[in-house]
Amino acid sequence: MYLEKLRLDGKVALVTGGGQAIGLASVEALAEAGAKVIIADRDGAIAETGRDSLKAKGYDVDIAIMDVTNSARVNEVADEVIAKHGHIDVLVNNAGIARSMTPAETVTDEHWLNVIDVNLNGTFWCCRAFGNHMLKAGRGSIVNIGSMSGFIVNKPQEQAFYNASKAGVHHLTKSLAAEWGARGVRVNAVAPTYINTPLNAFVKTDAKMYDAWIGGTPMARMGEVEEIASVVLFLAGDAASLMTGSVVVVDGGYTCW
Ligand code: NDP
Repeated sequence: MYLEKLRLDGKVALVTGGGQAIGLASVEALAEAGAKVIIADRDGAIAETGRDSLKAKGYDVDIAIMDVTNSARVNEVADEVIAKHGHIDVLVNNAGIARSMTPAETVTDEHWLNVIDVNLNGTFWCCRAFGNHMLKAGRGSIVNIGSMSGFIVNKPQEQAFYNASKAGVHHLTKSLAAEWGARGVRVNAVAPTYINTPLNAFVKTDAKMYDAWIGGTPMARMGEVEEIASVVLFLAGDAASLMTGSVVVVDGGYTCW
């Protein structure tokens, strides 16, 4: 009875930025649970590589080339998914950029707007486009990838733009959950700590920063993509049927200190 609630047979799911790292692991988790999954990434080569790696594991996933900052394209892909599959049940808003290590007083307009555009605006365009179809169907589950940076200020790297964008994602999650809760659409978020992905590659050349990250983490390690994907899977399906507006912190204890 309980394990069955994690199953997503017959469901259709789309993961933005799904071609690699946390997104790709989430695609695999959803596919393993039985969903038909679409990788939506801005880079066709990354999307294809992700799809091929899952094909090798026996999962037949689709791809859509989509930049989340392009709301017209997001609407188009949402319509295409409905035309092809008839419904969309799960949306994972994972696409995000960091562009860390820039002190606030030196941030350019372009830098600020770019991070907000991908992380916050892009998340909203996708919630709006796919959420409309979910609302019409009276069911759906949206999982936004926020960050512990939406709760705390990371150190030592400066990234006010990123932290603000992720705090925005968390409150957007709660706002949409409140608006859509009675209409069958749940909206939750995951707030990860530092995860081993290309987004964090810059720390590999900075032992001092790495030590600060690990020293600030009770579990004394970074996370792995699978440790976020399993929480995405939980939130996506009926195992989390009473959850909406939750921001689930998955941080090895980082926000305890
Ligand atoms: P990666 O950079 O490894 O992967 C992100 C994916 O999103 C890439 O395929 C990237 O494509 C794609 N992407 C970027 N911009 C867009 C866009 N405008 N439209 C569509 N796709 C886009 O990131 P992670 O897996 O590390 O992070 C995934 C999410 O998790 C992000 O939202 C991030 O903020 C969040 N997060 C990550 C943490 C970490 O420590 N890694 C910690 C906390 C939160 P391309 O390569 O072409 O840019």
